[in-house]
Amino acid sequence: MNDLREIRAYCKKATQLCPCGYLGHPSGKCHCTPDQIARYRGRISGPLLDRIDMQIEVPAVPQQELMKQQAAGEKSSTIRQRVEKAYQLQLDRQGKTNSRLGVKEIDQHCALDSASENLLTQAISRLNLSARAYHRILKVARTIADLAGVKKITNQHIAEAIQYRKLDKQ
Ligand SMILES: [Zn+2]
Repeated sequence: MNDLREIRAYCKKATQLCPCGYLGHPSGKCHCTPDQIARYRGRISGPLLDRIDMQIEVPAVPQQELMKQQAAGEKSSTIRQRVEKAYQLQLDRQGKTNSRLGVKEIDQHCALDSASENLLTQAISRLNLSARAYHRILKVARTIADLAGVKKITNQHIAEAIQYRKLDKQ
């Protein structure tokens, strides 16, 4: 419960990646120094980041672009169908969603082939990730595979899941 409150407070703060909040904005308004940014991000604790499944940087998009992309993108009803299918798949396989899997269940349901295992081991040591982050990556990779309707997790799924640990890498 305490964790949840901490995460909520963090999420509020985390809408900004630098003190001014304009880092990466197309307007180029941000003049924060790398030092200031590092100090700002240092306030987010590692153990707290570990508890967040996916960390993605979302660049600001000018409104016109947003409208264009909406017209060209996949229909949300199609996406909904895919998500519902993946959800059901998880319940049928293990009686719960991937995010609720315990460590033993992860071993059982998120088994990797040697190529994926190598990729993940390398990423863990290169990015200096914790055991908890390791398990988060496995669960997210399992979900990516489920969304694709694929039984076995491949190194592509692992690679994508590693991408979602964006803040660990900084
Ligand atoms: Zn800034």
